[in-house]
Amino acid sequence: MTTTTHNNTPVTLAHCQSFDQQDPLSSLRDFFSLPSGVIYLDGNSLGVMPKATPARVADVVAREWGTDLIQSWNKAGWFQMPQKVGDKIARLIGANAGEVVATDSTSINLFKVLSAALNMAAEDAPRRKRIVSERSNFPTDLYIAEALCKERGYELMLVEPEDIAAALTAEVAVLMLTHVNYRTGAMHDMAAVTSAAHAEGILTVWDLAHSAGAVPVKLTAAKADFAVGCGYKYLNGGPGAPAFVWVNPLHTNRFWQPLAGWWGHATPFAFTPDYQPAPGITRYMCGTQPMISLAALDCGLDATLAAEPLGGMDALRKKSLALTDLFIQLVEQRCSGYGLGLATPQTHAQRGSQVCLTKDEGAYAIVQALIARGVVGDYRAGDGERHKDILRFGFTPLYIGFEDVWNAVEHLRQVLESGEWQRPEFNQKHAVT
Ligand SMILES: *Cc1c(COP(=O)(O)O)cnc(C)c1O
Repeated sequence: MTTTTHNNTPVTLAHCQSFDQQDPLSSLRDFFSLPSGVIYLDGNSLGVMPKATPARVADVVAREWGTDLIQSWNKAGWFQMPQKVGDKIARLIGANAGEVVATDSTSINLFKVLSAALNMAAEDAPRRKRIVSERSNFPTDLYIAEALCKERGYELMLVEPEDIAAALTAEVAVLMLTHVNYRTGAMHDMAAVTSAAHAEGILTVWDLAHSAGAVPVKLTAAKADFAVGCGYKYLNGGPGAPAFVWVNPLHTNRFWQPLAGWWGHATPFAFTPDYQPAPGITRYMCGTQPMISLAALDCGLDATLAAEPLGGMDALRKKSLALTDLFIQLVEQRCSGYGLGLATPQTHAQRGSQVCLTKDEGAYAIVQALIARGVVGDYRAGDGERHKDILRFGFTPLYIGFEDVWNAVEHLRQVLESGEWQRPEFNQKHAVT
């Protein structure tokens, strides 16, 4: 499948329709419940509901809870759900079964792994008292790191992506990065960055919020140390779905994580007064987990893993790049002259599964005008300096097709040409952007 036309011929709607006909993954869309009249380019913020989810959730509520009540901890396998769902996530991130649990939120899991990493560094290299991260990392990651630094008298150093290599010095305990930047869609080379950090004696913590289910991730091969990620974005687990946590098995049993609750205990039902961490990743659990949400996340994973017989993450990646290439090409071809810029890298190896356009004026209102037309993307505010306001479009290859890309760009062209984004109702800011 390719989306390039010969001799710079402009891409047409008919080309896009033929790309859909040749798409070996087009049947995966049937696993999802897409509202009609909507082109959903926000799966990087909240994934689409799988068709299987409502019945599964209803069954967990009515039968497992309503009828079987407390027996379901054993009978329905509730107690093992975080590990069972974690094993499915492991298949998508280059980890092994038994190394991942689905639990808590990304922020909370980050607190656990960052604490464990700092404990490890404190033992192995006590003079290292610095965490390095990217200034444009997702803010919650920075807040968690800032709080931990405050608690321990450490320093959080924030750098631009091009300055990361120079920041890897003998003062640094942990390099904490998000693999694919939420704002620009720029992707790090996980193996190369991890290896550069290790060469300087630095541990790595990777946030996979915009990677898991979107791009191939190879945690074991990259020799990464710790990773966390999100269940409600590309994994389609539903609003507030449990997140996940992975720890390199070389490190897992070395330290407790700080939220030492009973679900991370080796024998929770022995009810002993002292804490004895469970071996393996189970020690990264804290308290009782949300079974209804875990069931919904399980459905999201099944829909993603349905791609395995069709080539899995590698095939999804190929389609994702074809979709984002097409979007970039069509915006250049059909929306030039309106002051749009591109914030996402053109180079495939540096691009996640989203495309961000910049616009000096009206980015928020253009996104609102598009949403009113059924093209759902989102807006992220700039910082007034390095980063401009962006229009952000996520392309989930499981359910987005090439004709969707054509139609989205056509709506964008019409919104820009007509100037309808200047209408007052599109310039009212909502609480959630
Ligand atoms: C979405 C996202 C989060 C979300 O964290 P929550 O604890 O689930 O609210 C964290 N980090 C990154 C990089 C994200 O993209």
